[in-house]
Amino acid sequence: MDVQRDVLETDVLIVGAGPAGLSLAYKLAQLVAADESTEMPEVLLMDKGSYVGAHSLSGAVMNPRGLAELMPDFKDKGAPLEAAVGDDALYLLTENGATKAPILPPPLKNHGNFVVSLNKLTGWMAEQVEAAGIDIYAGLAGYDLLVEDGRVTGVQTVDMGLDKEGNPRANYEPGSLIKARVTILCEGVHGSLTRHALEKIPELAADCQPQSYLTGVKEVWEVPAGRVKAGQVIHSLGWPSKSREYGGGWLYGMSDTMISIGYAVGLDSADPTNDPHRKFQRYKNHKLFRQILDGGTMLHYGAKTIPAGGFYSIPRLYHDGLLLCGDSAGMLNAQKLKGIHIAIKSGILAAETVFEAIKAGDFSKSRLKSYADNFRTSWAGQELYATRNFHASFQSGLWSGLFHAGMQLITGGKGLFERRPHKQDHEYMLKKAEYKALFGEEPKPAEIKFDNKYSFDKVSDVYKSGTMHEEHQPSHLVIADYDICNGRCTEEYGNPCQHFCPASVYNMVDDPDRPGKTKLELTPSNCVHCKTCDIADPYQVIRWVTPQGGEGPNYTNC
Ligand code: SF4
Repeated sequence: MDVQRDVLETDVLIVGAGPAGLSLAYKLAQLVAADESTEMPEVLLMDKGSYVGAHSLSGAVMNPRGLAELMPDFKDKGAPLEAAVGDDALYLLTENGATKAPILPPPLKNHGNFVVSLNKLTGWMAEQVEAAGIDIYAGLAGYDLLVEDGRVTGVQTVDMGLDKEGNPRANYEPGSLIKARVTILCEGVHGSLTRHALEKIPELAADCQPQSYLTGVKEVWEVPAGRVKAGQVIHSLGWPSKSREYGGGWLYGMSDTMISIGYAVGLDSADPTNDPHRKFQRYKNHKLFRQILDGGTMLHYGAKTIPAGGFYSIPRLYHDGLLLCGDSAGMLNAQKLKGIHIAIKSGILAAETVFEAIKAGDFSKSRLKSYADNFRTSWAGQELYATRNFHASFQSGLWSGLFHAGMQLITGGKGLFERRPHKQDHEYMLKKAEYKALFGEEPKPAEIKFDNKYSFDKVSDVYKSGTMHEEHQPSHLVIADYDICNGRCTEEYGNPCQHFCPASVYNMVDDPDRPGKTKLELTPSNCVHCKTCDIADPYQVIRWVTPQGGEGPNYTNC
């Protein structure tokens, strides 16, 4: 189809209105306002959610250091902090027991931090950005990263109004070409444009380890008074993950009657039936949590991947016309499972570099490199460096991981090894026969009865995420080869997609053309944009591409 596309031009294009993108926009506006010799550049800040915060999801306990640096008066400005952290505990769980750590290791202490809803926080930050004079375009989704003569020149937005076969409908609107002098990707974990950047500019990832991910699944509950305190923080290790798996959970008191509860599971699991949603539903039924949830009501649901690879998985952060910020670049402290403060700091530093580039009229990589240098020497870069080997410690399981993590605490992050190699997460998954040979048991999902009171099936949970997609559009889950799904994958792995997707998008149904066989059926409208399938599929035949702007989850209070 020969398509005529509108061309829009801007100086600065920021993709993603999360903590990094919003901080970048706010700081840039501040820098320009304080410098009489520099005019405000054209800035376009776009986000694929239907409103700012619609796709923002985190636990979350926030270290306020980044926000305080960006906006020292954030409390006076009304930042939505749910509660200052009070009680802080770590438990080691078994199926029927919970052992509380007598002393919290210093990195796990949360004194001075705040329980927040990231979705509310980004909504409030957006108000501050708009008050500073920068417009935000929500519901505008990037489809492709434009790279011309080796230089990033902007983004093509998603076509609207195509039918399932990709033909234009009556309301067809071709995506635009947004041309920018510099494009900053702040689109969150495993962003599709960031993936394009890494594929089109291989040197970005030439010197880093593959990223490693967890999938975090959470619910927000209203519970009877007296069960928790505002600011109460519980973290846990162990059950329902096996000791050879990477995973842990949390419960945060958002108020005296509102909690965030969730569980995160490593996607570098050997188990082809690894199911983060199912693990989370079992987790809630542990007696430690069940006594809190009893009589409560589940209000909201969400799922998202978390980058856990750490310092050595961060790609090069700059190219001609390009910067990478926040979760797009994997800037998360896996030891503390915290990244909001680091994302904000990366946005601040990117704004400073962009400001200098504007003044110099130079957006080449040699000019933009200062962002990476400044990030590396900043407190955020140092924090990531000090935990650089944390995730790799757990390659041999929980107990060995705890030992190595302890050694790292007393050796400035080095521990007993440096930069242990890591494969792509999906390469750790074993075929059913391999799993049985190694562990002496068939891989199979743990039993659970969804009672729709304390534990919910995936479809019921998706309903609580507010997810909406237009049915009449091309599937945004692109399967490169259905024959692999319906043949080899069924035989070898048992179709892991039906397990790892936390939104019941992938289901194996009877195939009428092959009696006794099953075939893959997709329900893309359920998708909560967590990106797990794009990461965990063992054959890498699933590709998550951006659906129409304004679609996907509509998170509130998450
Ligand atoms: Fe996540 Fe993929 Fe399922 Fe969507 S289809 S919810 S991105 S695993």
